[in-house]
Amino acid sequence: MYDRYNRKINYLRISITDRCNLRCKYCMPEEGIQLLNHKDILRFEEILDFTKVAVNKGIDKIRITGGEPLVRKGVVNFVKELSQINGIKDLSMTTNGILLEEFAQPLKDAGLHRVNISLDTVNADHYREITRCGDLTKVINGIKAAKKAGLTPLKINCVINESSEEPDAVGVKKFCESMNIEVRFIHKMNLAKGHFSIVEGGTGGDCNLCNKLRLSSDGKLRPCLFNDVSIDIRKQGFDKAIEIALDLKPVRGTVSCQNKFNEIGG
Ligand code: SAM
Repeated sequence: MYDRYNRKINYLRISITDRCNLRCKYCMPEEGIQLLNHKDILRFEEILDFTKVAVNKGIDKIRITGGEPLVRKGVVNFVKELSQINGIKDLSMTTNGILLEEFAQPLKDAGLHRVNISLDTVNADHYREITRCGDLTKVINGIKAAKKAGLTPLKINCVINESSEEPDAVGVKKFCESMNIEVRFIHKMNLAKGHFSIVEGGTGGDCNLCNKLRLSSDGKLRPCLFNDVSIDIRKQGFDKAIEIALDLKPVRGTVSCQNKFNEIGG
């Protein structure tokens, strides 16, 4: 399927929860966030039905995100059902890796192809400081487990302040080289101020090449991270919601006061 500007749209990012087991400083306020009501969160059946409609229309690349996707109960079975939808060529997940040691093999067995793991530093103290509570050892063990399980090509997402030459980023780069893993550097963004830039080592951030739609855990389809357009898939119906999203996807991102990384998943 194509949007108004003739961009081919084949990528759907699905946030399955607004909950997270970390409190990264650039992503969430220290006191946490006002969590969504249980009834507002899409049931896995609804997400699967929506995805089938989206795949029929041309989506062939799916990423599961959050919040932290691995904190949602039933995620492995959800992945299994998702992986059985005909037409998905690339099925991946973005995770902070904290629970990955336990989940890597079950996720692989369920049909997940690969994972991107978020890691901004390999200094344990900095890691705890940035995430406000995270244990770096768990992430490292998660990365090893994901490699062992074959959730590859494994990619590390590293958020940087200024440049990929800063000490934490250099440390992550060296670690990735030693593990033979790809790393992508993402500049810290501010959605409300419209601060975004291209991803170093990846394809994100270039509006001309944007092929994405995003589905939030409460069923809002968002055609652009840096825009407040949001279509309620429960109210509009799945097919119509996708049509509207294609029609309203802006030529380029500007600002968004509605989208939050912790809800929409990046
Ligand atoms: N919990 C999962 C994780 O940590 O990967 C998935 C959700 S998290 C919001 C997705 C990605 O968004 C992470 O790589 C995170 O570093 C990134 N992110 C969050 N806030 C950001 C910001 N202000 N600027 C750039 N990236 C951000």
